[in-house]
Amino acid sequence: MSISRAIEPITADDDAIRAALGDAFLPALIPALAQVTGDLSLLREDLRPPAMVPGAPQGGMSDSQQAAAKALAFEALKAIRDGGVPAPTHSIEDDLRAITGWMNGTPASDEYIPLLVEELAPGDEDPRAPKWRYDGKTPFHVVIIGAGMSGILAAIRVKQAGVPFVVIEKNEDVGGTWFENTYPGARVDVSNAFYSYSFAQKMDWPKFFSPQGVLLEYFRDCVVEYGLRDQIRFNTEVLSAAFDEQRCVWSVRVRTPDGREESIEAQAVISAVGQLNRPKLPEIAGRDAFAGPSFHSARWDHSVDLKGKRVAVIGTGASAAQFIPLIANDVAELDIYQRTANWFFPAPTYHDDVPAGLSWLFLHVPHYMHWYRFWLFWNSTDGLLPAATVDPAWPHPDRAVSEANDQVRALLTMYLQAQYAGRPDLLAKILPSYPPTAKRVLIDNGAWAETVKRENVHLITDAINEITPNGVVTADDEERAADVIIYGTGFQASRFLTPMKVTGRGGVDINEQWDGDARAYMGITVPNFPNFFMLYGPNTNIVVNGSIIFFSECEVQYVLGCLHLLLEEGHRAMDCKQAVHDAYNARIDAANRLRTWGASSVNSWYKNDRGRVAQNWPGNLIEYWQQTVAPNPADYAFL
Ligand code: NAP
Repeated sequence: MSISRAIEPITADDDAIRAALGDAFLPALIPALAQVTGDLSLLREDLRPPAMVPGAPQGGMSDSQQAAAKALAFEALKAIRDGGVPAPTHSIEDDLRAITGWMNGTPASDEYIPLLVEELAPGDEDPRAPKWRYDGKTPFHVVIIGAGMSGILAAIRVKQAGVPFVVIEKNEDVGGTWFENTYPGARVDVSNAFYSYSFAQKMDWPKFFSPQGVLLEYFRDCVVEYGLRDQIRFNTEVLSAAFDEQRCVWSVRVRTPDGREESIEAQAVISAVGQLNRPKLPEIAGRDAFAGPSFHSARWDHSVDLKGKRVAVIGTGASAAQFIPLIANDVAELDIYQRTANWFFPAPTYHDDVPAGLSWLFLHVPHYMHWYRFWLFWNSTDGLLPAATVDPAWPHPDRAVSEANDQVRALLTMYLQAQYAGRPDLLAKILPSYPPTAKRVLIDNGAWAETVKRENVHLITDAINEITPNGVVTADDEERAADVIIYGTGFQASRFLTPMKVTGRGGVDINEQWDGDARAYMGITVPNFPNFFMLYGPNTNIVVNGSIIFFSECEVQYVLGCLHLLLEEGHRAMDCKQAVHDAYNARIDAANRLRTWGASSVNSWYKNDRGRVAQNWPGNLIEYWQQTVAPNPADYAFL
């Protein structure tokens, strides 16, 4: 099996090409054709998509622009069919300048171009692959903890550099979150073209936003394609990792599938355990007294038949918003306990198949999928950040943090008002009071409104007092009977690395050092823990701009740079300097306070018990990319 299916030659007749163009996404097709034909005159000024309205069909192109763009594309496709693909005449950098200029009116600045070349990763190139190879002269072995999205990525890169490694995975299969979350309706809420590795683009995603099973298959396929399966130890859990300062070696203690304990030595450890891995059950009195079945969304009990049952769901975050519409039809009564309302962002294609014509174009137009991904990257990332930025002079901080944020609020409010027209009772419960983007904005195609309007569904916003053997009691002392309780209550996101025990120099325990307030340099390294690298560590989550895979690719690039530095310079270990780490974190904290999620007091998993934003990256993508391109040796003490 291959992730990146080879582009097939165009043999279709004119009518079939015209039919396929009916499904084309034109703002990315025109750039793809301009690049592949070398004819940059296809980037006609009169066809330029208007100023970006996120989510607007065809980038907001008018009907006449679309018709003209299709006519142009038809001629270009015929030329490729009849004459083949010409040899490239421009550098990819020149193409990027011309194409970003067409997309936005001004070309990308020079500082962005190297990042964009990497993200675009056109053709068979893999610009982020390590450009060095381990020479085997110094003993070096890496333990990677976790075979989810980040762990697989780390394994691919470490293997490409030729460094010996093993991946330890507690589950019986790869996939991490996409293996564990099997609840009905689980799917990615970032478009797949973007939520996938830059270097392993799949041309034939069946849907724009893939369901869990398709993503699990993608990650399994990556493991096969990169030959990783034999280096993964499944059903094996890491219990602890301890640094031996004398020898500069990590001892990683694991529980094997047969229940024994064993130690594995490594010169470096890469932790890829995720932030959203340990389910959180709410501290509600009487929780364990409930007589019926109950389970968390990430541990869905498929043996419980919900048909005809009275079901209570506690929590209305991203997970619950996906499974509630799927079960509402089956259950007799559904009580949804909502503590904080969500903002919803309209995404009409959220559940849609990729139409046949667009699939055909992805498989027949060289690099079209890459440019489609690029369009998403370029238009849905850093451009969204200003609307999440605090203006200290803005006079209405309760409802928004700035004028731009207030405009987003107005747009999203209109969306909700339209959905709940004639239902002021529901609108009052659904409309959030906090600024949009202070919590994750949920992707929606109307399914949520349809569900909560159902006769058998009850949206309850009274606080929960207790759980009894028979159901849930709210603050007004009403007991609502339930046969099953489902917790969509999120994860222990702030408790990084737990329940593993990680001890560094001087025997210090990482969680004692953090004292409930996890921090790291770049989210990756922590003083006193030499050669211990975290992926998706503190302050590397994003709220509005980008895909978490982008961050993992940056982090892995940095870690590989660290391994190269160690091996090339003959150091045994590198330890982040405390002052560097502290100054970095002071900058992160100050920047997070100027984002909606830091300024607003609304509940969210982005803040730890101390109220610090321990999860989120506050900056734009290029800043994170620039700081992780390569380690600065001056930031580290070498042992
Ligand atoms: P979550 O966003 O943390 O939501 C937890 C929900 O449970 C919230 O509604 C929360 O209310 C509620 N809750 C927690 N404790 C409660 C209590 N004691 N009483 C009443 N309600 C309580 O968790 P999640 O939905 O699992 O999502 C977590 C993250 O995972 C998302 O933000 C997203 O990053 C990721 N995710 C992604 C996808 C995707 O890509 N498709 C899908 C699912 C999840 P409050 O809001 O008041 O705290």
